[in-house]
Amino acid sequence: MEKPAIEGGTPVRETKIFYGHQYIDDADIQAVVDVLKSDYLTCGPKISELEQKLCDMTGAKYAVVCSNGTAALHIACLAAGVSEGDEVITTPITFAASANCALYCGAKPVFADINPETYNIAPASVREKITAKTKALVAVDYTGQSVELDELLQICKENNMVLIEDGAHVIGTKYKGKANGSIADMTTFSFHPVKTVTGGEGGAVLTNSKELYQKLLLYRAHGITRDESLMENPSDGPWYYEQIALGFNYRMTDMQAALLISQLDKLEMFSKRRKEIVAKYDEAFAKLSGIFVQKEIADSDTTRHLYILRLKPERISINRRQFFDALGAENVCCNVHYIPTYYFPYYEKLGYKKGICPNAEKLYDEMISLPLYYGMSDEDVESVIAAVSKIANYYAV
Ligand SMILES: *Cc1c(COP(=O)(O)O)cnc(C)c1O
Repeated sequence: MEKPAIEGGTPVRETKIFYGHQYIDDADIQAVVDVLKSDYLTCGPKISELEQKLCDMTGAKYAVVCSNGTAALHIACLAAGVSEGDEVITTPITFAASANCALYCGAKPVFADINPETYNIAPASVREKITAKTKALVAVDYTGQSVELDELLQICKENNMVLIEDGAHVIGTKYKGKANGSIADMTTFSFHPVKTVTGGEGGAVLTNSKELYQKLLLYRAHGITRDESLMENPSDGPWYYEQIALGFNYRMTDMQAALLISQLDKLEMFSKRRKEIVAKYDEAFAKLSGIFVQKEIADSDTTRHLYILRLKPERISINRRQFFDALGAENVCCNVHYIPTYYFPYYEKLGYKKGICPNAEKLYDEMISLPLYYGMSDEDVESVIAAVSKIANYYAV
């Protein structure tokens, strides 16, 4: 049997590969340069062009782009009316922002457990966590696989809750043939460089509700409006505007918007390649007794943002940390997504304790995020498969 590099064998590759990387081409660069030479660096024509493009792409009626995915979650919670004393249910297997957005509004995040095979928030666990104070559900399409939207919408309808889909991973995915972004009450996107399309930074909220749309516009920009129908006092003149709520400066620049418009032109290409890589990984890892392959949700046609390698501890003699280090020795540099949110000291000090979501905690102990991005060559993909297979076979029990 081939010896892993960590035991003194030869690494599968000579150069390091990392878990994610953006893909920027000449068209992207030109799009940004064109804006820099134009009259508007912010609040210009690229903003509405991007918003229209997101609507066309998803079928949503309205899109509000903003500075990042966290700001998108914050204004979505504000538009949903989340405030002091409310509870917001979310998953612990996500980036901290999915729960922090509730805290920003003075509300309490409540963690529901995941489905142990798909890793998305489990509708049955959501039902168990609902109280009279529950105002909203922030459902994360973890790894890019759509949450079970029909069931979650039903739960929210029955319990007078707002469904906010944290779609930071979901761009390119379809649920029952419809692009995610037009189905939940609001869907948020993130355009951070590790996500499928990037603006450097950037975010968006999509909705079909005009009422929510108007609130999102207000919260994005200081709570200020120039729409006379929303004003409380008569206008003083053409310069007049009113602040009617407390909002933020969460605007996106036109450079970011132009980059995103250009990136979205490549979404189908990005999506196709990600699907190819995932299919190769799934096929190779299904043959390894010590590896569990993430289960697909039948209604989700998934563009995967993250590829999760999960160990079966009873079938492999090393733990996640040792597997992670063994991959590193092969020059396959991985990551872990995510540390359960309530493990963080900040949350601990708020009174959250380990044990709240056993399925999520078990997943955290057993998972590693493998390299997955558009620019990976076939040789890169083969080297990752070779490294995982070598280690999994060597330590199989
Ligand atoms: C990246 C991410 C966010 C935050 O997005 P930013 O653009 O980095 O602020 C929120 N939720 C999830 C699930 C994410 O992956």
